[in-house]
Amino acid sequence: MEKKTRKILRSNERCAGCGLCVLTCSFFNFGVFGMSRSFMRLERDDRTTSFVLSIDDGCKSCGECVRACAYKALRWEDEDPRSRS
Ligand code: SF4
Ligand code: SF4
Repeated sequence: MEKKTRKILRSNERCAGCGLCVLTCSFFNFGVFGMSRSFMRLERDDRTTSFVLSIDDGCKSCGECVRACAYKALRWEDEDPRSRS
């Protein structure tokens, strides 16, 4: 049977680059605090100086990164965006 996963939408414009989502994923999924052991990736675009978020295929859709982001840069695709504005 195909695994159903909820999709997380990322807003690079809202992202402050704090890295909390990356560390939260690292802690809940790998038992460590580390920027390199996480399904969430955060990079800085030197051209625009904005942050670029990406999620690896291994993401388990646990939602801890969504809960951790105080800047509302992450949300569920099926979530009403007005509830997080
Ligand atoms: S998405 Fe949110 S928690 Fe993650 S780095 Fe950006 S502001 Fe921080
Ligand atoms: S939803 Fe995916 S990226 Fe976010 S904390 Fe869970 S496993 Fe990591």
